[in-house]
Amino acid sequence: MSTMESKGRPEASPERSSPSDAVDRLAGLLPDEALEDALQGLAPEQITGPGGLLTQLAGRVIETALGAELTEHLGHPPGGAPQGANVDPMELAKFSALAHRWWDPTSEFRPLHEINPLRLAHIERLAGGLAAKRVLDVGCGGGILAEAMAAKGAAVTGIDLAEKPLKVAMLHRTEVGSSTDYRLESAEDFARARPAAFDIVTCMELLEHVPDPASTVDACAKLVRAGGYVVFSTINRNPKAYALAIIGAEYVLGLLPRGTHDYARFLKPSEIASSARAAGLETEALIGMTYNPFTKTYRLEPDTSVNYIMTFRRAE
Ligand code: SAH
Repeated sequence: MSTMESKGRPEASPERSSPSDAVDRLAGLLPDEALEDALQGLAPEQITGPGGLLTQLAGRVIETALGAELTEHLGHPPGGAPQGANVDPMELAKFSALAHRWWDPTSEFRPLHEINPLRLAHIERLAGGLAAKRVLDVGCGGGILAEAMAAKGAAVTGIDLAEKPLKVAMLHRTEVGSSTDYRLESAEDFARARPAAFDIVTCMELLEHVPDPASTVDACAKLVRAGGYVVFSTINRNPKAYALAIIGAEYVLGLLPRGTHDYARFLKPSEIASSARAAGLETEALIGMTYNPFTKTYRLEPDTSVNYIMTFRRAE
């Protein structure tokens, strides 16, 4: 791998602190030959592809750095989410690290605050109102949508696998006197415990962060009652989505921290539709969510090429 040649062991220096220096120092820990040996026989996609060597290495480094914190918050060792769980510990670490700013509308979570009224109105419209509806919000994070739905009269449960955002959600619930019920649960486990228990299941901005989105879609389908609604929002996968959602949002406009999204995990509406069909859901609606960088506003419109909301209904 000529592109990955080690630069040799850099001198240790106490003032060094930038991420690229840290990378140099880590690379220096392995002799060139060991690096060559380790990379021998790996196909390029095994190195840079989803779940490949680079992602796993980054995961190890983050786990080591955040190990104590993750253990404390998740109640199990870092990377040690229940065996076989449909979760990427690196993703939880990213959201945990920022969780204290979840309700700051000028923070990294600003896009979620700004799209919230749009998606709330859309869900209300489709489901014929939220009052007295039993709603489950999967991957609820700090509770921006969950709380808004509860404020409309729904009985809302929010589940997430990151404990820190859930704690923030609980604190905020107390501050505003909301009735939302928050739990540290995976969609799959919750589906086994509470089949068909909800009128509406929302799963927003989550599918692009899980290793097996089809399993999440299947769990959501099991959680909703016959005739109930399941609403997903995520990011489409095509060159325009790459340009806008990653280069634009993370690098040019700085709307999101770099590394928030992994292009390979973006999902085409047809892919969600096929998992949904297999899980017994029927497509009800598909709408795009666009961002205008000049007016700095989001809108719902037919263009689904980047962000979109897709709603399904469980067959009666
Ligand atoms: N749905 C919320 C938050 C989106 S951010 C909203 O739209 O306002 C993504 C959330 O997914 C984070 O809170 C993160 O902790 C959570 N998450 C990531 N992987 C998960 C998984 N496998 N299961 C449940 N939640 C997960």
